[in-house]
Amino acid sequence: MSAILLNGTEIRKEILAEIQQEVESIKAAHGVVPGLVTILVGSNAASLSYVSLKVKTAHSLGFKEIQDNQPDDISEAALLALLAKYQQDESIHGILVQLPLPSHINEKVVLNAIDPNKDVDGFHPVNVGRLVIGGTEAIFPPCTPAGIQEMIRRSGVETRGAEVVVVGRSNIVGKPIANMLLQKGPGANATVTVVHTATRDLAAHCQRADILIVAAGVPGLVKPEWIKPGACVIDVGVNRVGETVSPTTGRTVAILRGDVDFDEASKIAGFITPVPGGVGPMTIAMLMRNTLNSLKFKLGI
Ligand code: NAP
Repeated sequence: MSAILLNGTEIRKEILAEIQQEVESIKAAHGVVPGLVTILVGSNAASLSYVSLKVKTAHSLGFKEIQDNQPDDISEAALLALLAKYQQDESIHGILVQLPLPSHINEKVVLNAIDPNKDVDGFHPVNVGRLVIGGTEAIFPPCTPAGIQEMIRRSGVETRGAEVVVVGRSNIVGKPIANMLLQKGPGANATVTVVHTATRDLAAHCQRADILIVAAGVPGLVKPEWIKPGACVIDVGVNRVGETVSPTTGRTVAILRGDVDFDEASKIAGFITPVPGGVGPMTIAMLMRNTLNSLKFKLGI
C-alpha cells in the first residue's frame, strides 16, 4: 500500500484563502477586521522568526497586526501592564505572548493574565476547561491540535467510532487532541487512548489504531510494524537529527525527522503526514482562524 500524503502546506493554503475571503466579507458588512498582537520579549532568533511569520501571515489576510517587541529586561509588572492595554483595546481580538520568556518573568503569571476571550493560543486554564467541556464552549482550541483535527477532517478519514491512539500527553498536543477527538460531534466521536512512557505495551496500542497521532519528540519511535494497514498516521514530532548545507541557499540547515519512520510507514498506512510539511504548517493557519473567530464571537456572527 502507498499512503496518501496529507500535505500541510497545501491544506494551509486552502484554509488561509477561506479566512481571507471571510475577512473581506466581514469588513464589507461590519467595517472591522480581526486584530492580532504578538508580544515578543528579547531577541531570541528562533522566536523572532516565528513571530515574523505570524505577523506576515496576519498581514497577508488583511488583519490588523501588531508586533510588539519588548527589551529582554522588561519587568514582569511592565509586561502585565502592556497586556492590560491590549485587553482593553477594542480593535485587538487576539493576544499572543511568544514563549519562552526571560527567566526573571513568571510565564504562568503572564499567560494566566491574558483575557481568556482574547487567548487565541488557547492555553489559559479557562480555555482548557472550555475545551474539555466541548461543543460551543470550546472557542479557542490550541493551534497544533486544531491543525491535526482539521487535517483529519479534510482528508475524509472517519473519526466517529474510530480507534484513536495518541502517543504523548503534553498540555500543548497530546492532552488537548485526545480531548477534542473524544467529544460528541462531527470530526470527533472517537474512542481515544493516550499512551506515554509508563504505558506497558506501546506497540500493541499503536497496532489497533485507525488513527495514530504521535507527539513524543523521539525520532523513529513508532516502528512500521506498529502501524495498522490503512491507518491514518499523524506525525507531530519535529526532531533535529543533524545538519546539511542547502543546495539552493548554501546555508546550513537542520535535518528534521518525525517520530515515525516515514519511508517504511508510508508503505503500510492509508494516510500519512510528512515531516517537515505536515502538521507544522497547520499551526499558524489555526492561529489565524482562532483570531478571526474571536472577532466573530464579538460581533455575534
Ligand atoms: P513533550 O512535552 O516533551 O511531551 C512528549 C510526550 O511524549 C510525553 O507525554 C512523554 O511521556 C511522551 N513520550 C516521550 N517518549 C516516549 C516514549 N518512548 N514512549 C511513549 N511516550 C513517550 O512534547 P510536545 O511538546 O508534546 O511535543 C512533541 C513533539 O511534537 C516534539 O517533537 C515537538 O517538537 C513536536 N511539536 C510540533 C508542533 C508543530 O509541528 N506545530 C507543535 C508542538 C510540538 P511522559 O509524559 O510519560 O514523559
